[in-house]
Amino acid sequence: KTVCVTGASGFIASWLVKFLLQRGYTVRASVRDPSDPKKTHHLLALEGAKERLHLFKASLLEEGSFDAAIDGCDGVFHTASPFFFATNDPEAELIAPALKGTLNVLESCAKASSVKRVVLTSSVASVAMNGRPLTPEVVVDETWWSDIEFCRKIQAWYVLSKTLAEDAAWKFAKEKGIDLVVINPAMVIGPLLQPTLNTSAEAILNLMNGAETYPNGSVGWVNVKSVANAHIQAFEIPSASGRYCMVEEVAHYADIVEILGKLYPSHKLPEKCVDEKLMPKYQVSQEKAKSLGIDFIPFEQSIKETVDSLKEKNLF
Ligand code: NDP
Repeated sequence: KTVCVTGASGFIASWLVKFLLQRGYTVRASVRDPSDPKKTHHLLALEGAKERLHLFKASLLEEGSFDAAIDGCDGVFHTASPFFFATNDPEAELIAPALKGTLNVLESCAKASSVKRVVLTSSVASVAMNGRPLTPEVVVDETWWSDIEFCRKIQAWYVLSKTLAEDAAWKFAKEKGIDLVVINPAMVIGPLLQPTLNTSAEAILNLMNGAETYPNGSVGWVNVKSVANAHIQAFEIPSASGRYCMVEEVAHYADIVEILGKLYPSHKLPEKCVDEKLMPKYQVSQEKAKSLGIDFIPFEQSIKETVDSLKEKNLF
């Protein structure tokens, strides 16, 4: 079978490509710049790549850009989307590539009669941010949606970009009769295959970089290997449908610092939170993700894999 992975050089997508090749798929990998070895070398080195990996140049904002990569594929995994927080131009840097890019990719899928299912990488960002208080007794699940007005009000531009993109994807898929399944991961950590740093691994790196304080945030975390597997399961299991939250554990940065202290006792770690009162934790349902056969990796192991990989890649 032939599948397309958009944004193939990214953190999550690289693992997805690796697992797809391992499972015998022919993979069409879209990248923005196929001539940049930092974006392609690690993909071309994967087992099976020589025989079954094909690179395609495509950009989210260019209409028709994905046609060639997608036409003839049985399935499409749309992972490409900008993931960073600091921006002076949220519309151009985050919202347009996420929203227009998703519609652009889905347009190519609608044109290609070969495509049986599309799996979209959305985020818990599209699920949990709606102003409802997140406290220990609250269980966030796939019925939740982030609130667009609330995101604008608090200037959560990345969250807004993912929410708008997923919402538009569901509407477009319904209109065109596309079989869409969505994966909604929390902050993704674990070993890096790509040589460069990505935003979610950076959140862990920042704690190891000698800062005095850690952020006041309770966030869901999940291993990149579970997320990549969930994408494949969502494609392969005929009855998979709707959204799938992927959270192995909700943890406060204080918990992560404690784990890091146990794992790397001689390392200098931040000593206190930026605020006095720690943000409460909450729960995210694993029920749907488990129905895909996902066995979540223990959180401590995911933290260790992240740090060991950052060290190995000389990223700190
Ligand atoms: P990376 O930054 O590693 O990957 C992002 C990918 O998107 C890159 O391949 C990048 O291409 C591509 N991309 C960005 N802008 C454009 C554009 N204008 N045109 C074409 N490609 C573009 O991030 P992740 O692997 O972490 O993220 C992958 C997906 O997962 C995203 O959709 C993200 O929102 C989602 N996600 C990530 C989470 C996380 O914690 N990591 C959590 C939940 C969801 P290039 O390499 O050329 O820059």
